[in-house]
Amino acid sequence: MKIEIQLTDAPIAENISPPSPPGAHGAFLEFRGTVRAEENSQPIAALEYEAYTEMAGREIRRLLESLAERHPCLAARVIHRLGVVPAGAAAVYVGVTSLHRAEAIALIGEFLDRLKQDIPIWKRRPLPVAVAPTLKNNLPASRPHAAIYSLEEAMAEIRSRCQRLPAVRAPLAEAFGRVLCETICAPEDLPPFDRSARDGYAILTDDTAEYFQIVDTLHAADWKPRSLQPGQTVRVATGTALPCGGLRVVMQEHVERDGDRIRVLKQERVTNIRLRGEDVKAGQPLVQAGVRLNAGALALFATAGCTRPLVSPRPRVAHFTTGDELVPPHQTPGPGQIRDSNSSLIRELLQHTPCDLEQTHLSDDFDTAWRQLDPERLAHVDLILVSGGASVGVRDFTRPLLERLGFEIVFGQVNVRPGKPLIFGIDGMRAAFGLPGNPLSHFVCFHFAVARALARMTGEDPPAFLRALLAAELDDAPCPRETLWPARLEWNAGAPRLRPLAWASSGDLTCLPAANALIRVPANQGSLMAGIEVDFLPAAAMISP
Ligand code: AMP
Ligand code: MG
Repeated sequence: MKIEIQLTDAPIAENISPPSPPGAHGAFLEFRGTVRAEENSQPIAALEYEAYTEMAGREIRRLLESLAERHPCLAARVIHRLGVVPAGAAAVYVGVTSLHRAEAIALIGEFLDRLKQDIPIWKRRPLPVAVAPTLKNNLPASRPHAAIYSLEEAMAEIRSRCQRLPAVRAPLAEAFGRVLCETICAPEDLPPFDRSARDGYAILTDDTAEYFQIVDTLHAADWKPRSLQPGQTVRVATGTALPCGGLRVVMQEHVERDGDRIRVLKQERVTNIRLRGEDVKAGQPLVQAGVRLNAGALALFATAGCTRPLVSPRPRVAHFTTGDELVPPHQTPGPGQIRDSNSSLIRELLQHTPCDLEQTHLSDDFDTAWRQLDPERLAHVDLILVSGGASVGVRDFTRPLLERLGFEIVFGQVNVRPGKPLIFGIDGMRAAFGLPGNPLSHFVCFHFAVARALARMTGEDPPAFLRALLAAELDDAPCPRETLWPARLEWNAGAPRLRPLAWASSGDLTCLPAANALIRVPANQGSLMAGIEVDFLPAAAMISP
């Protein structure tokens, strides 16, 4: 099937000719998908589409080719408009010609079904019809807090609402910690040629003579193809390209040398050769898409010459602290004041996900805080985090603030302890969290909610609950909420065991230096005995000693 694909910023023309010459086909079918004037029940002026065009083009072609196997058509033309597409304008065009209409109908139908899920083209954000209303001196009207979500529901919403950000190509030096967005295959055999695994003497494989004449000396970088006769040997170093096939290397330690002759003292069965392609053959996968790149993966890419892998982008994160009682850590708090710890907590927890972070302190007065913001700039941020002000206090404005920034509030409370007043908002590709200000709640919400959103945005598997035995009793009174209890997963007792840590309240961060896990205590459970198996969520840097 002839295929033509255009990914373009230009409007899609009104009249487009069939993709194969008239007369060749019996049927010519066209589909145009236009942008609706409404998104999530809100009127919109336009939708912004983004794509990784090279990959999207490749995937569209692959999809059409696979569909054509079942629905043979003559030709297909797909046009997808990118960038800002006004409501009413076409965003997608598909034109197909075939001998009979049934094939074209089936191919277009299936193509459209799979376009959304399989092709990396994203709705970046809807553009609102009107600009924000003029500011009043009081808080803008806000919808009542929605019903409380269970932990499971909250995690499922985050997973389904957050979207993957467009992948980018990055040099190796900037790829550490990013998620690989393509499966990288070996472009060549590794090792690329037969190499000596030892410092020693290369001889013919079946030459069992005792004495050999040294006919050449090769260093690691030498490339000197030549043949060997029985009784001849070539001096080689570890890593030297062997001069011909059918050789083995006798270790230097098993040889007695006398001028340009050697005597083999010990015959070995092994060849001491690293054969071309024995690590991996050209075309075989080296690292699968979805893997977070570590030092080893990047070293492997370096070996294979894959110097610009397609990886998740660095999410742009804006973190706002709220609370007039806060002073920076280096300042001595006055009466009624405390030091800001959440900025440090967020900054360091985000180290796990390479991102571009900006941190700003906002006034507790809504209008002043709003003036401190730059909504235009925030439109290009992928994740907004607001510390504090997430609850029901008179100055708690996170929810209306996020709404005014264009976010739909998905939930405003989660039935979890600590961390109940957690707000989650979504706006196209942008996600936002209003995190309860108490530092321990912050830590907990980061791990079950923010880390989950980041995993979705970067294309990683979401953090999963694991199981382990309790090293000691978890002593607690029954609580109607599920609890994520700070704990330390210890490795020194043979099998890993979870040790629950003591905490006085959601404001108590004294347990956090030791915490590397959160035990999931079911609602109304009360204490858990030592030795039983429990679910836990790994927290930052769990495996480090
Ligand atoms: P809020 O969610 O604003 O009601 O804050 C709840 C509690 O967390 C209050 O005691 C705040 O003082 C405290 N808090 C809020 N933000 C921070 C922060 N950045 N660092 C330390 N404590 C905070
Ligand atoms: Mg506050």
